[in-house]
Amino acid sequence: MGDVKDTKACTRCGQVKALTEFRRNAAAKDGRESQCRSCRATYYAANVDKYKARKKAWAALNREAVAAYLKRWREANADAHKAKAKIYREAHADEKNAKRKIYLKANPDAKNAKVAKDKIYRETNRHALKVKAKRFNDRAVNTLAPGYVAKCLGIPLSNIPAELLQMKREQITLRRLARQLRRASDESSEDIDRIPGKHGRSDDAG
Ligand SMILES: [Zn+2]
Repeated sequence: MGDVKDTKACTRCGQVKALTEFRRNAAAKDGRESQCRSCRATYYAANVDKYKARKKAWAALNREAVAAYLKRWREANADAHKAKAKIYREAHADEKNAKRKIYLKANPDAKNAKVAKDKIYRETNRHALKVKAKRFNDRAVNTLAPGYVAKCLGIPLSNIPAELLQMKREQITLRRLARQLRRASDESSEDIDRIPGKHGRSDDAG
């Protein structure tokens, strides 16, 4: 390795710097750019508008290719993308709803159109919506979601201190366990694996 240089002079500022101070460039003879990082950064900052315009023009020319690339990337990173999108949606939900509300208030036609569209959607997707609601409800029951626990307590969620919510959750969990144990001893062994909470919400209330 004795011949391999680990420094070189920048062609712009003339300073001799470590190779790592030059960005990689596969097309260059030594695999590094001829100008150092700091000179490149200065040059980029001075010409940032030009670069941005060029990037924009390229994207416009290659819109479909870019869309296809992003689609492939999203598919390959579906889970991470979904999680990220969900966090973003949740963080901006209030803001978005508020904006939408203001817009609909100022645009009666848009509001009427939305009401009509929602109605058609509900009518044409009645079954799917029912299935979805049931799945949502089952999940809330099984995971002891805050809204479900509040319903069991009979108090609006916003009025329940976190400690009380947690106590109720633990109580329900204990009851479910006790029920499972009772069943296991009363009935034949095939009932042991029954999913807790599958038998309706009323069991957990009180
Ligand atoms: Zn330089």
